[in-house]
Amino acid sequence: MDLLSESSNPNFEYTITNINPSSSSTISMLPPPLPPPPPPPAPSRYENQKRRDWNTFGQYLRNHRPPLSLSLCSGTHVLEFLRYLDQFGKTKVHNQTCPFFGRPNPPAPCPCPLRQAWGSLDALIGRLRAAYDEHGGKPETNPFGARAVRVYLREVRDYQAKARGISYQKKRKRPKKTVATPAPATNQ
Ligand SMILES: [Zn+2]
Repeated sequence: MDLLSESSNPNFEYTITNINPSSSSTISMLPPPLPPPPPPPAPSRYENQKRRDWNTFGQYLRNHRPPLSLSLCSGTHVLEFLRYLDQFGKTKVHNQTCPFFGRPNPPAPCPCPLRQAWGSLDALIGRLRAAYDEHGGKPETNPFGARAVRVYLREVRDYQAKARGISYQKKRKRPKKTVATPAPATNQ
């Protein structure tokens, strides 16, 4: 638990000591001021998001029944966490029985559930995996890198691709009509 509280302590705040330029004409007995240490780089959006995700997961562990500590956390618990997050999802994922299954732009509402989009979950796991590492976790015990998590993410991606009629393959710039020209070698 102590591991988690560290991340709530922002270390990016620093004060800038303002050296008054008009004082340069006065004789000063003080030694010339040392240049201020370079300020730590402002945290990026990624870093901020990573810290928030880490806090969210810590909160999830604290509220877990039975209580769960990070050291006991396995891929199974990470999957539990991902399913728990689905209730806050905003992405419509059609059931196979829905007439809009596989249609990217359904013409009418349907009662299918909202879920976390695969891309969000995938990015989240990447951030949590890095955060675990940065908090001293060993790579071999990193629950976010567990095989079960990778398999789950792949299943979510494949199912959402079908249900939403969206391909998660990287889009190719080349339009399809240029069939006559020899196709470049694909790296698949
Ligand atoms: Zn539907």
